[in-house]
Amino acid sequence: MKGIAVSKGVAIGKAYLLDSTKFCIIKHQLDEVEAEKEVERFREAIEKTKLQMTEIKKRAEKIADKYAVILDTYSLLLDDDILVNDTIENIKKHKTNAEWALTQTLNTFLKLFDNINDDYLKGKKDDLDLLVQTILKNLIGHSQESLSDIQEPVIIVTHSLSPSDTIMMPKNFVKGMVTEAGGKTSHVGIFAAALGMPAITGVKGLTSKINSGDQIIVDGIDGEVIINPTSENLQHYAKKQENYRKYEERLLTNIHQPAETLDGHQIKLLANIESNQEVSSLHKFGVEGVGLYRTEFLYLTASSLPGERDLYENFKSVVQEMGSRPVVIRTLDIGMDKQFGDGLSIDEDNPALGLRGIRLSLANPQLLTDQAKGILRASLYGNVKILYPMISSVTEIIQANIILEEAKNELRKDQIPFNEDIEVGAMIETPAAAICIDHILKEVDFVSIGTNDLIQYLLAVDRINENVAHLYQPFHPSVLRTLKNIMQSAENAGKKVSICGELGGDPMATMLLLGLGKLDDLSMEPHSVPKVKKIIRTIRLEEARQLADEVLEMSSPDEITSFITSEMRVRFPEDFDRDLSFEEKLNPAKRE
Ligand code: PEP
Ligand code: MG
Repeated sequence: MKGIAVSKGVAIGKAYLLDSTKFCIIKHQLDEVEAEKEVERFREAIEKTKLQMTEIKKRAEKIADKYAVILDTYSLLLDDDILVNDTIENIKKHKTNAEWALTQTLNTFLKLFDNINDDYLKGKKDDLDLLVQTILKNLIGHSQESLSDIQEPVIIVTHSLSPSDTIMMPKNFVKGMVTEAGGKTSHVGIFAAALGMPAITGVKGLTSKINSGDQIIVDGIDGEVIINPTSENLQHYAKKQENYRKYEERLLTNIHQPAETLDGHQIKLLANIESNQEVSSLHKFGVEGVGLYRTEFLYLTASSLPGERDLYENFKSVVQEMGSRPVVIRTLDIGMDKQFGDGLSIDEDNPALGLRGIRLSLANPQLLTDQAKGILRASLYGNVKILYPMISSVTEIIQANIILEEAKNELRKDQIPFNEDIEVGAMIETPAAAICIDHILKEVDFVSIGTNDLIQYLLAVDRINENVAHLYQPFHPSVLRTLKNIMQSAENAGKKVSICGELGGDPMATMLLLGLGKLDDLSMEPHSVPKVKKIIRTIRLEEARQLADEVLEMSSPDEITSFITSEMRVRFPEDFDRDLSFEEKLNPAKRE
């Protein structure tokens, strides 16, 4: 199955289906006494299911007899000794929970059905599956198992994953992720990339084709999911997995070198992080600071709203770990696809255009005061900058700065020290901010371009909607002109500019971005730093400018995309040439 590759690498393993209609069953080991009780619990669930079926049948009879007859199948299956007895035997023999034992029985049955050549009987397979789901519902109640219960290596397969799901999952057990929904910059991808875990989004029909326990391969390099692979598939992808690992490993040799073009132009490569736990591993990738700390994930993991002190402690840990290197802390950017429950998030018809980012903070000034104070206090320990998200006018910056000043005053009053000269920046991610960039620049010390949202709003293409993912085109001329304009305005104003959206970490875009104008920093998920650095260290700025000039003459996004793709493939076959087998890419000599 094909999807959008959002985090590179190859994962091979057992699927863990997180589906709203199907339950994810986790195995629990029981002792003798518990197993006996479990049998009783299972019998009760069967009785309950029978009653429900009789009730449904009565209702069905009122509509049409033939529907009622169909429902007889369920009752027959429930009376069937094999389904019930085999499950009870499974509970006793393996001393496991009823849910697990029942699923094992179901799987054995389903395999038998697979070998039957009769279409009518094959149709019964779905009945059986449905019936088991009903029993499971009665066993489990309505609450599904949580991702945090995963206790073995799995690949998550699901329609969509909320940010809270991703936070809850045990990272050491999750080897990869595939979702039906989601576009190129959905948070599943951002999160997976941060963990260096292969991920694919936008795989249509995925959850109806995969069951928990199926072996699958997630090829996050070419965006492919292989279900129940053959041994040849397994061999091929194991090799691809290993080759990719080696390729990434080799890239790491540049971590101590500067990101400098052949003609001596330097740029800082910074990391986007979602949690303070990521910071200790940043040195592995040679990052020169944190260019975007997405603080909203901190709110997600807390049981209640984090206060000034919690925020301060958290920020301080990041800042201290980074030493003198810059740490850009973004104030809360909740909203749209980052909806985090209680109290903060609101139900909106059109959340992408709703109360998100700075708008939410300004509507709840105490929220911004706590964030500002947390950041200010942490600023004492290093090189901290504050960044406002989703700015669409100077008014918002002015209002946020008033709250920031009040926060400073409160700290002064309490004699709590902080960096008086802390730099303040604005995310440029709305067309309004991009168009009025000259006004914005007057109010801030720096700007950071959030291409994920900027592209979404410029092109009117939902960044997480797989149906329009093909229209989400970072190489659209309107995007490139906008980026050039922002960089030019920042240079004119003598202010620093960085890119912190996914485009900034896409090595395919690196040369073009450098050629568009003066860029101070690129901030990206840390694993991309060595890849982007490799490109920078191999090109001359002059060539990049020529490339950008040529591209800016082009009118169609497709033309630009294919031009850039083929240019990059020719220049960097090892990194971009998809037509060659991965092994050949790694060993160019072999090709001759
Ligand atoms: C962006 O919009 O490009 C960005 C970096 O912010 P986020 O992805 O968190 O919306
Ligand atoms: Mg954004």
